[in-house]
Amino acid sequence: MSTKPTPICGQHNLPKKWRPTAFEYNDEGVSVRVPNVYAWVCPVDGEASYTPETTDELLLTVRELLETEIFKKGGNHDNDC
Ligand SMILES: [Zn+2]
Repeated sequence: MSTKPTPICGQHNLPKKWRPTAFEYNDEGVSVRVPNVYAWVCPVDGEASYTPETTDELLLTVRELLETEIFKKGGNHDNDC
């Protein structure tokens, strides 16, 4: 981690902390939550900044979770006629 500089929160002018947080995503009434995602977190308001690598992984995870949730919701096909 020594090669990456600690980002500073532009709003509070404080160094952010590298720690696990929970990523939450809402789309068309379906919400998914990915716990224990490492991100730079502002010590004041807890706002998380995700690295590009993490964002890529998150998008994949979120897509899988969304497909699971949508499948669960649309899993009943009893009303076809
Ligand atoms: Zn802040």
